[in-house]
Amino acid sequence: MKHFETHNYKSNFVLEQGQYSYVYIRNFEIPPLEEIADHDAVVIEVKNLDFVRLIVNAVRSNLDPDIYLTPIFLLKKDVLDDVPYIEELVDGSIKSLDDLGFVNKEIDKINIRKNSLNITSSVSFEAQVITKLIALMYVRELKVLNPIPDKYSNLYYSFPFMAINFEEKEEHLALKILNLAEEEGMLRSEYFDRVYLCSSCSGSHMSYREVCPKCSSSNTTPDDIIHHFPCGYVGPMKDFSNEIDDKLDCPKCNKRLRHIGVDYDKPSVIHHCNNCSHNFQDYNVNAKCMSCHTDRSVETLKAHDIKTYRLTKKGELAAIKGFTSTSKDIEDVVGTVKYDTFKTMLKYEIERLKQTLGDSNLCAIHIGNSSQVYSKLGSELQRGVFKDLVSVIRSNIRSSDVIAFWSSSTIVVSMNDIPHKIALRITGEMVELLSELIKSSFDDLEVNFETKTVALDYRKPHEMQLRELLAEFD
Ligand SMILES: [Zn+2]
Ligand SMILES: [Zn+2]
Ligand SMILES: [Zn+2]
Repeated sequence: MKHFETHNYKSNFVLEQGQYSYVYIRNFEIPPLEEIADHDAVVIEVKNLDFVRLIVNAVRSNLDPDIYLTPIFLLKKDVLDDVPYIEELVDGSIKSLDDLGFVNKEIDKINIRKNSLNITSSVSFEAQVITKLIALMYVRELKVLNPIPDKYSNLYYSFPFMAINFEEKEEHLALKILNLAEEEGMLRSEYFDRVYLCSSCSGSHMSYREVCPKCSSSNTTPDDIIHHFPCGYVGPMKDFSNEIDDKLDCPKCNKRLRHIGVDYDKPSVIHHCNNCSHNFQDYNVNAKCMSCHTDRSVETLKAHDIKTYRLTKKGELAAIKGFTSTSKDIEDVVGTVKYDTFKTMLKYEIERLKQTLGDSNLCAIHIGNSSQVYSKLGSELQRGVFKDLVSVIRSNIRSSDVIAFWSSSTIVVSMNDIPHKIALRITGEMVELLSELIKSSFDDLEVNFETKTVALDYRKPHEMQLRELLAEFD
């Protein structure tokens, strides 16, 4: 067994053993996350679970596959209290650093599978979340995604590999995306349970109370109804009580009540509302949402099915080949063609240029700070922005020109049969309009557009020209 020598510590955070290097996180110190991409695995010393959760979330929620797919191991001396959320997100644990050798096999397995992936950037937030999910499942050979009962989850159940992508309040969106992944054929589901969520905010933290049907107050007092057999009188118990002892006397015939079932009975309960003085037999049940404070009848709660999900063959293939967009994304962004179609059309345009020796151009518009922008916009807004961007571009080019998404942050545009100078001018104008559009739609959103416009060269293959155009936006 190998031991770690102090001279093996490259930096504060790096451990080396043989050909393996690990990022070692302890003492509440957080390394720069980019550093993780250069190492084989992450080891986190478990002293404080909140800190571990924070680190694990930060790694798994990163957008760079070289970071979020990195194997994570916990270094813990004792068995942890029940923390299935964290356990699901990590790849195992060791008792001491001397045991690291035992997990190298697992590290190799994950990293070999990771290197076989071809991850593309995604057109939409949904596609990005699906990409991450199927990639994480594939590299860890996780066939089934089980919902984990979780008292901290805003859904009652947590899918940790989904939850990492959402703020607590938006966790219900995870269910929508899982459904979408199922529609795309990446996952297959099975019913597991049903949960009821707030109809306003989709939260699950509810307080259930019996309330007055008239004023909805929960300030009510129940009272037994007493039926006195000898005289037939029926009334609330308080009519039978006296001030001297705890015995009951009939207010109608004045006889003392003896034995329940013999001379009297309690056929039902009556409720008295201390707020509006209404007396009633059947109360309503209200659910008060502890997140948004709405207080409504339980009938208004929204039912959601919680399912277990299995990665399909198609899902595995999509993980390997890269998953850019859901069918919905493409349908939604009117005015674009698929990137493959764009490539084919470009090839024909080059063939045409060989004959005509005309001037055609290729343009890329890139959002430099896309991860910042997309994390601020929900998926609905993001699609709205896509549509707006495309319609601005569309209105500045000819109807015969085509637009395609190369990634969620880069749009490619053909500008055929116009001099390069004019194409450059149009590109400049488009970016100005796009910036104005963003400024007028969002108050505090700074979008950095970068562009590159090149003249098509009929002597070079179309794929090479696209590669050169997009190289700096990768
Ligand atoms: Zn609510
Ligand atoms: Zn009332
Ligand atoms: Zn009586």
